[in-house]
Amino acid sequence: MAKRDYYEVLGVSRNATEQEIKSAYRRLAVRYHPDKNPGDPEAEEKFKEAAEAYSVLSDPEKRALYDRYGHAGVSSSAAASAGWGPAGFGGIEDILNDFFGFGDIFGRGARRQAPQRGADLRYDLEISLEEAARGMTAQIRIPRLETCHVCHGTGARPGTQPETCPTCGGMGQVRYQQGFFSVARTCSACRGTGRIIRTPCRECHGKGRIEREKTLEVKIPAGVETGSRLRIAGEGEAGERGGPPGDLYVVINVREHERFERQGHNLYINVPISFAQAALGAELSIPTLDGKQETLRIPPGTQTGTVFRLKGHGMPILGGHGRGDLFVSVTVVTPTSLTREQRRLLEQLAEIEDRDFENESLMDKVRSIFS
Ligand SMILES: [Zn+2]
Ligand SMILES: [Zn+2]
Repeated sequence: MAKRDYYEVLGVSRNATEQEIKSAYRRLAVRYHPDKNPGDPEAEEKFKEAAEAYSVLSDPEKRALYDRYGHAGVSSSAAASAGWGPAGFGGIEDILNDFFGFGDIFGRGARRQAPQRGADLRYDLEISLEEAARGMTAQIRIPRLETCHVCHGTGARPGTQPETCPTCGGMGQVRYQQGFFSVARTCSACRGTGRIIRTPCRECHGKGRIEREKTLEVKIPAGVETGSRLRIAGEGEAGERGGPPGDLYVVINVREHERFERQGHNLYINVPISFAQAALGAELSIPTLDGKQETLRIPPGTQTGTVFRLKGHGMPILGGHGRGDLFVSVTVVTPTSLTREQRRLLEQLAEIEDRDFENESLMDKVRSIFS
């Protein structure tokens, strides 16, 4: 598509003054600004075209190049140099504001008045391993800023309205001329809000939000672990000027358990057994996290450190089905105080063992001779 002549785009003569170019651009920018023509691609195109033409013709150096060589003289720089791509609409508006002190000519207030989403909140919740296994409903109390129920967030006493700040005309900024540019600074009268509340709401003292402690019921699903994060949409702080509320994040910390150790979905427990149980085999009663007992059969000759698995007695799998396993490691405990009876029996055992050892060492000797 052939580019239109920049002078033609702005509708000015080739010897137009800077001032004429400026006001021609201003007229077009206002007419075709995307904010005024939402969803109109033709207007958007015209707006960009005018912005590009202006970026060249408002710059004496570029204008001279354009006058001599046409589009070729400035093509590489015209649209790109100012970064005025489609993504730069906000930027264009800023530039317009800065150049002309437009005020809210686009029917928009200053940026500071835009609705603002409330802050996200974090709540750390400590629970036991049993609670993590069962899942639970936790009552949590969170102090947070809520929209004032008396003024509904305006900050003005009911029956009154916030007024547009007379100092800045609602812009939240005051401009002063500095050479060609007008420079903006935050309006001190309204502290940048663009509004003045003459009769503040008694409840929130004009802030529009009040700190409240709210009690929330939060469902903690079974299987959560330390670091699990639950997002509760819309339960963060209230937004400002009609903005949406933030979210609440509940961050889980699972306390260490005195008997069970957790690794992912699996649980680990150490169980002491007697020498007799280890040697003869036994049926052990193993406590599980849900407070019940499971029977574990250990074979004769079980050694210390042997690990047995009780399938499906671990932690529930978060957001899934089934559970992990419970691993039971056994430790053979040497008795420290013996009854007379126990002592007698053990001494008998020791005698037999001595003989066995002797026999064994004899057998070893025999073996070594023949090998
Ligand atoms: Zn209020
Ligand atoms: Zn002001």
